[in-house]
Amino acid sequence: AMPPIRGAVRFEGVTFGYETDRPALKGIDLDIQPGMSVALVGHTGSGKSTIVNLLCRFYDTVEGKVLLDGIDVRDVTIESLRSQVGIVLQDTFIFSGTIRDNIRYGRPSASDAEVEAAARSVLAHDFITHLPDGYDTQVEERGSALSVGQRQLISFARALLANPRVLILDEATASIDTETEMRIQEALGTLLEGRTSFIVAHRLSTIRHADRIVVLDHGVIVEQGNHEEL
Ligand code: ATP
Ligand code: MG
Repeated sequence: AMPPIRGAVRFEGVTFGYETDRPALKGIDLDIQPGMSVALVGHTGSGKSTIVNLLCRFYDTVEGKVLLDGIDVRDVTIESLRSQVGIVLQDTFIFSGTIRDNIRYGRPSASDAEVEAAARSVLAHDFITHLPDGYDTQVEERGSALSVGQRQLISFARALLANPRVLILDEATASIDTETEMRIQEALGTLLEGRTSFIVAHRLSTIRHADRIVVLDHGVIVEQGNHEEL
């Protein structure tokens, strides 16, 4: 098992290919301090998702090292890694059940009050209380009764309850209205506070707020720095 981590992330000379002859990442070096927010940007196929896949240890055939607080992710169990590295995917998944169940999935032992507190923190409480049955409203897998923005806020509440030291977020590309966008940015600020985060960023506002912007091209880091430096 893995002791609670601070959330330092290092990639040391990481080269990785899904197919042996064509690396998806080449010689990646990253040094991220605990609590930093990292925006991963680059064209389609540049390697953004591959970086976060390796941080989650979805693949073991890595050349070089991926380190969490100096510990090689290959030296810890998948379960302990999952408890410290959380992921919010672009197609935020909602399963059939109540809104409450969907949020509580982040930490099954959470009380109703904790579920509600998490929802309040990420500004989801308001819209939830306006649903026919509030937190007990039944939603379906496809979540069609919820807007893209609402699904995102529910996934934020879920991630907040899970409270991982490192959070990975694949930002939704779907267009949302300006007001929802502002709400999501504010909620994101709360969600990321005090943890290390990697965001596959599509929105300029997210990129601007990041402590470190990492620009990828064909599996190589071509630039990194903050918004002023780049
Ligand atoms: P996008 O913006 O489209 O999500 P990305 O920057 O996330 O792109 P990656 O998914 O990391 O890019 O892909 C990097 C390279 O690895 C690409 O050449 C891609 O075709 C390849 N690749 C990604 N996933 C796989 C896979 N499961 N099997 C084989 N090749 C893959
Ligand atoms: Mg991707």
